[in-house]
Amino acid sequence: MRLRTGLSVLWRGQGESQIGVDPRCAVVLEDLSPGEQRVLDHLDRGGYEPTEADLVRVGRTAGVRAGRVRELIRLLERSGVLDPVADRATSTPVPPEDAYWSRLLPDGDGPALLGRRSEAVVTVVGLDHVGLRIASHLAEAGIGTVLLEDDGPVDPFDVGPYHPADVGDRRRVRAEARLRSTFDRLRTEAPPGRRPDMVVVVCSRVADPVLLLPLVRDDVAHVPVVVGEVDVVVGPLIIPGDGPCTRCMDLHRTDADPAWPAVATQLRCSPAAVATSQLGQMGAALTAHQVLAAIDGRELVADRASLEVSALSPLPVLRPWAVHPDCGCAGVSLDEPTPEKPVAGRAQEPA
Ligand SMILES: [Zn+2]
Repeated sequence: MRLRTGLSVLWRGQGESQIGVDPRCAVVLEDLSPGEQRVLDHLDRGGYEPTEADLVRVGRTAGVRAGRVRELIRLLERSGVLDPVADRATSTPVPPEDAYWSRLLPDGDGPALLGRRSEAVVTVVGLDHVGLRIASHLAEAGIGTVLLEDDGPVDPFDVGPYHPADVGDRRRVRAEARLRSTFDRLRTEAPPGRRPDMVVVVCSRVADPVLLLPLVRDDVAHVPVVVGEVDVVVGPLIIPGDGPCTRCMDLHRTDADPAWPAVATQLRCSPAAVATSQLGQMGAALTAHQVLAAIDGRELVADRASLEVSALSPLPVLRPWAVHPDCGCAGVSLDEPTPEKPVAGRAQEPA
């Protein structure tokens, strides 16, 4: 048996040991004899993984009866500090992503979570430096397939995640080369017919309905990322038919400012906004956080809300969004065209 990777056995005082520190994954054991503390210490000897029989043996030399050693082991199991993944190779170190989630998840099954990520397909549309950073975060976190879309040229301001020699080349080609040179198991093509589990769309200044609305129509989960004048706005993560979409957001903005549609149209034609490097990194990390939470099946902390981050503060502003009553995106069967909202041209499954 072994402790969940990253946890240590710590001596608090006579008769008191603790395993781990953070209350989300730690436990304190009290009223222990010196021998019992020695048995616990045996769980934390790097590279050595004792069996139950080993610990019973240690207990015998330390004056702890076998029944009490087994009792302690059951207590540790119930406390969740032992690694429940029985078939994990003991000789190889556990990768940080696996170890982290193994400590934090109630079932301790980091390998299963990474397995889901490895099966996932995520598309990133828009590969300025923010887009490439998002793709890089996802690949590093173990997303198995990252599809890249952007036929525009690498801009001098994209250098950072791109190399200066990439400037002028097609973003998709250079981004793919950069990612594949670092993440050798990453796939950048999906099998024919495999729809992405999530699409990230990086836009300049304002969300682009040409890119985003078809995703609602096609029932694909997506995250708009808008690089603005002073901030990067991430989300909300949109599950079509379940919560607001980007059209809802536009309708709310129009309620607040009737000139918004005219302003938005002009913004779409304006020169691209460029985030500073640090702001781009913050926006990319937040985006990857949202995408990974959804892929992992974890709770979305920023559910139906966008996260607005600027270089002025490390704390994003959380802005909740509601479905707009005039949008019609929620509660409508997205598989059937309605007279009000024709969806011509869509390949549809029969109902
Ligand atoms: Zn909507």
